[in-house]
Amino acid sequence: MKEHVEDYRPIVGAQVIDELLLLADRVRHRSLQHINSTSVGGGVAEILSRMVPLLRDLGIDTRWDVIKGNQAFFAVTKAFHNALHGGDETINKEMIQVFRDTTEINLQDFDTFGDVVMVHDPQPVGLITRRSVVGGRWLWRCHIDISTPDPRIWEFLRQFVSQYDGSVFSMPDFAQRLSIPQFMVPPSIDPLSEKNRELSDAEVQAVVERYELDPERPILTQISRFDRLKDPLGVIQAYRLVRRHHDCQLLLAGGGATDDPEGQEVLQEVREAAGDDQDIHVLELPPFSDFDINALVRGSTVVIQKSIKEGFGLTVAEALWKRKPVIGGAVGGIKLQLLNGVTGFLVHSPEGAANRITELLANRELRQAIGDAGHRYVRDNFLTTRHIRDYLLLMLAIENKDTDLSLLTKP
Ligand code: UDP
Repeated sequence: MKEHVEDYRPIVGAQVIDELLLLADRVRHRSLQHINSTSVGGGVAEILSRMVPLLRDLGIDTRWDVIKGNQAFFAVTKAFHNALHGGDETINKEMIQVFRDTTEINLQDFDTFGDVVMVHDPQPVGLITRRSVVGGRWLWRCHIDISTPDPRIWEFLRQFVSQYDGSVFSMPDFAQRLSIPQFMVPPSIDPLSEKNRELSDAEVQAVVERYELDPERPILTQISRFDRLKDPLGVIQAYRLVRRHHDCQLLLAGGGATDDPEGQEVLQEVREAAGDDQDIHVLELPPFSDFDINALVRGSTVVIQKSIKEGFGLTVAEALWKRKPVIGGAVGGIKLQLLNGVTGFLVHSPEGAANRITELLANRELRQAIGDAGHRYVRDNFLTTRHIRDYLLLMLAIENKDTDLSLLTKP
């Protein structure tokens, strides 16, 4: 299916699309390259797979390339990722060397392109040394909750980051002391993607039944990579507390990302914690399960994203878009999306999550009111059209260093 910006007009309104077309006219002479570390799995790949075709449809010459890395490299960058999220990680000299060596290999092989190069997250950050050869404007786009990073690893990465022309963070809480400009751009979801498009009740029901869930009883769902920072064990704890008062089922579904080597280990922990409870459904989803994920979320009664750290949490916006009441950990980008008590509920513990789930299960009107408010909030703030607008503004802003940077949104 070919993506067209015009298809979004009925969803976001004429003004939003007209503004995009106007901006695209101003940026059309510039080309753009996105670089990240995986083409499948996780939020960055999710966003780029939808945004790149739309940027092309707007006439912006856009490319998306993925760096190469072996298992050792991704084990190191996952440790960086955890350390930047404030986790307690040991990062030794050998690990730093693995990072440098892989960066070097990519520098030799990699084809950089474009007037603007947007490098996503820490894995490819070292490619910046190429700029002195190829020129262009380089932006480092950070998707991580970097509010309390391990200072040693941040100092190491900062040597690279500070060589960029600008940095982009998902929310002001993540801003860092940097000598380069910092832009705040929250991520987004695509309402027309296979994961978010409208489905019929029959389609939803068929998927729910295929996964052997009972459509007659409440379903609590968390869809996430199996990652400790997503706290799947905390979700199981919350479900067990809810079960004292309400009959319900728990669905924990997720797959891996090629740049996340910890998934299998965490999945094993989750299976053990689930034990022989027939009402806990642990699903390992293959890549490209978008239709099934869409239907599973639509078939859920309450959606949970009980993360301990979260850059943004696309899964939250995806569920809100489907008018689902969402309970999220009060961290990072989840706080941008869930206005407590209005567009969802923020919680700090499994007990807190259980209380809110119990409240929602007992009150259909509350579920509906919260779900409707969440849908409107996503429409106005977290759809791909707003994200593209911000990137186009960013391309204009860094083209001319005197541009008024306050044009960029800060929700
Ligand atoms: N996702 C998926 N399959 C899975 C688990 C997650 O397609 O098995 C998607 C999910 O729907 C969302 C993205 O991957 O679009 C995850 O993004 P998020 O920001 O929630 O978390 P991240 O994985 O980037 O930490």
